[in-house]
Parts: sequence; structure tokens; C-alpha cells
Amino acid sequence: MRLSRYFMPILKENPKEAEIVSHRLMLRTGMIRQQSQGIYSWLPLGKRVLDKVNKIIREEQNRSGAIELLMPTLQSAELWQESGRYDAYGKEMLRIKDRQDRPMLYGPTNEEMVTDIFRSYIKSYKDLPLNLYHIQLKFRDEIRPRFGTMRSREFMMKDAYSFDLTQEGAVQSYNKMFAAYLRTFNRLGLRAIPMRADTGPIGGNLSHEFIILADTGESEVFCHKDFVNFDIPGEDTDFDDAAGLKGIFDKWTSVYAATSEMHDEAAFNAIPEGDRLSARGIEVGHIFYFGTKYSEPMGAKVQGPDGKEHSVHMGSYGIGPTRLVPAIIEASHDENGIIWPASVAPFDVVVINMKAGDQACDEACETVYAALSKAGKDVLYDDRDERAGTKFATADLIGVPVQIIVGPRSIASGEVEVKDRKTGARETMTVEAAINRLAG
Ligand code: ATP
Ligand code: MG
Repeated sequence: MRLSRYFMPILKENPKEAEIVSHRLMLRTGMIRQQSQGIYSWLPLGKRVLDKVNKIIREEQNRSGAIELLMPTLQSAELWQESGRYDAYGKEMLRIKDRQDRPMLYGPTNEEMVTDIFRSYIKSYKDLPLNLYHIQLKFRDEIRPRFGTMRSREFMMKDAYSFDLTQEGAVQSYNKMFAAYLRTFNRLGLRAIPMRADTGPIGGNLSHEFIILADTGESEVFCHKDFVNFDIPGEDTDFDDAAGLKGIFDKWTSVYAATSEMHDEAAFNAIPEGDRLSARGIEVGHIFYFGTKYSEPMGAKVQGPDGKEHSVHMGSYGIGPTRLVPAIIEASHDENGIIWPASVAPFDVVVINMKAGDQACDEACETVYAALSKAGKDVLYDDRDERAGTKFATADLIGVPVQIIVGPRSIASGEVEVKDRKTGARETMTVEAAINRLAG
């Protein structure tokens, strides 16, 4: 992408309305734009990051055996009357009427709809277990939307729903998602800690929130320091191995971790003082097992091996991609801007032409840009007619992991500088060496 032809509306001033660093940086870099309270457009730079986050989420959901579909944002109120949640949900639900005066709603979550899909097609235990997920916009009319897309009214969610014949099966489905979540957040460059959680309006018996530690987090959390060193389940995790999955769950729930709603002061104080971590955190994921809470009132039954009808045991599993993007920034930035983990960076590398119009600089930049693009890298080429200082500041601000700096002096001897955004380390090397380094 040539920056001169791109749409990346960088703001010179720090936006006054932004209280936390991620919100400030997302506005300054032109990643998002507020359209009305708690409702955002994702501009091209932000959309690139969001897509990469969703790609990782999708890969890990698929790896665990979940199957993607896409359900609509608008739902009929009738379904929610069946479960009893139409009245229970309260003002967070945006209620709409269509031209025939039929009550509709903008989905805040999809348990009812996916249960309806399930009951329409699945009749036998032989088709279980099943886990269906989608990545879709949700709307919750939050009392206090704030911090940009961290807590917005319209937001994106990956929500998965599992169906099993028995509680035992459902716990295995829960453990699959538990392991998939650990892998997902790790690939996003985050250490998320699963904490016992309240089940809230979704209801149910077993629930964990996945929390990122951050000073600006809205939740107060308490946990054991050991979490920092726990191993993340590997790529070779066998999602059909019930005992192996239980082992992962047991390990990650073996030491104390709780949000303030579930906090047990005495249990926390039993941890040696030096190992106690009391901090603030951001909830980036939440998983629930809730048994037959929806399947029973909505008649989602299958025939079991005993020939009888059984209400299916269900769980639901949410991750917030539009909250994860600012959470990653909260965890990874410095005074100059964002520092993207390579896995979600909007571009892999930025080529900085210090003197656009200078023949040797232009040619070297074009060579690098073409070679790395051909190698499948996402390359941003800063070919603008701007001062070198402005370009350096932009590159640092938008946080692309590697910068290739092409200036008239070094290119005279065929060399460029390669700068690591995170460490600031710079290395001088030939154009070919830079290409080889980054094309791999
Ligand atoms: P919170 O406690 O932060 O209000 P919640 O418990 O109501 O969230 P869930 O129903 O568990 O949210 O939703 C699953 C995930 O969706 C959350 O873990 C979070 O990542 C994301 N999410 C929920 N509400 C919002 C929001 N208003 N803005 C952005 N992301 C959200
Ligand atoms: Mg939650």
C-alpha cells in the first residue's frame, strides 16, 4: 500500500475526549471514528487489525472443532418470548418495530436464535457434540459507553454455542473452548487469565471470564502470580482427548483467580503475600455452561441412545474482537505510539522513503516494496512528500513492527537501515539483505 494513495487520517492533536491511551491512539492513528455515542466506524487501518484479530479467533475456533455460520443482527421478539428473556433483558436491548408493527430487536447475544436453528434440524444424539459460532455485530444499549470500542454500544462478538447430550459432554465442550481461548489470546500477544465468574443474565452453573491485566481495566481482579508462567496449550493439542483437555482446565484453575464479584478474601489471603496479585483487568472473553436453560423452554431435544427425548446441554462462549484491539494497545505501546504484536499488525513492514523524488531513494524503495509484496508481506510504503521526521513519527505512531529506512546517504553505498519498532534497535544492511531478512 502506497501511503500517498491510502486513507489513514492521522490526527495531529491528542483528542480531548479520550481518557485512556488505547482510545487516544486509535483516534490519532485514524483507526476508528465515532459515528454516534458508542457506535464506531472502523477506518482502513483499524479494519486491517480487526481482520487479523478475527482471523486468529477463527483459526482457533476451527481447530477446536467449532463450525462457523452467520446469524443476523436483527431478531424477532417471538424467540425471546419463548425463553422468557424478552422481558427479563431490560433496557440494554434495543427494541425495534418493523412496518407491520412486529416487534424486533437488535441482538445483544444469540442463544435463542441458535437454539431455534438447532431444534429445527438436529433430532438425534448421533449428531452431537455440535458447536456453532459466528462473528457478528451485537448491540447493547450500555448506560455508560466509554473508552472507544472498549465499551461501545454496537460491538463485535465471536459467540459460539455448544450442544451436548449430557452434562459430562457439555463440560468437555467447555474445556475445548477453554483451551482454544488460551491459545487465541496467546497468539494475540496477550496473557489472559481465566477467572471464576458470575453468570449474569446468561444464567448457568459454570463460568469463566478471561481477563487481561491492565491499569485501565474496569474490573478489579485478584490472582496468584503463578499464572504468568503457565504453559499455553500447543498447536498439537488434541481436542478429542477429554482427559488431556481436563488436564489443561485443571492446571489453569489450580490457583486462585477471581474478579471482585466472586472474590473470596480469605482464600486470597491464604496465598503467600509475595505471590498475591491484586490488579485491574479487562474482560476479553467469557464462557458459560448453562445446562438446559434455553433448550428446555424452547424444546431443543434429541433422541438419546435409550430411545427417549432429552433436552440438550448447552454452553456459550464469547470473545470481543472490537474490545481486544484496544486491549492489545493498552498492553503494548510506548510514548511514541502503538507497538503491534506481529500477529495482528496492520502491516508487516513500513518502507520509509526519506527523500521522495530522489532517484536512488525512489528506486530502492520500489525494489523493496515490490519484492516484499511479492513475498506475500503486507507492506506500507511511505512515499509521501513529507519531511523525514514526520514519516518517522508516523511509523512509530502506527506501530508497524519493522521499518526499512531508505535515505540518500546510505543508499549511495547500497544500504538501508532496518529498525525494530519495539526495541528501537537499528541495523544497517544492503537492500538485498533487508529483503531476505523480511521476506522469510
Ligand atoms: P461486561 O461485563 O464488560 O459488560 P459482559 O459480561 O456483559 O461484558 P458478555 O456477555 O460476557 O459481556 O460478552 C462476551 C464478550 O463480549 C465480553 O467478554 C467482551 O469481550 C465483549 N463485550 C461485551 N460487551 C461489550 C461492549 N459493550 N463493548 C465491547 N465489547 C463487549
Ligand atoms: Mg461477561
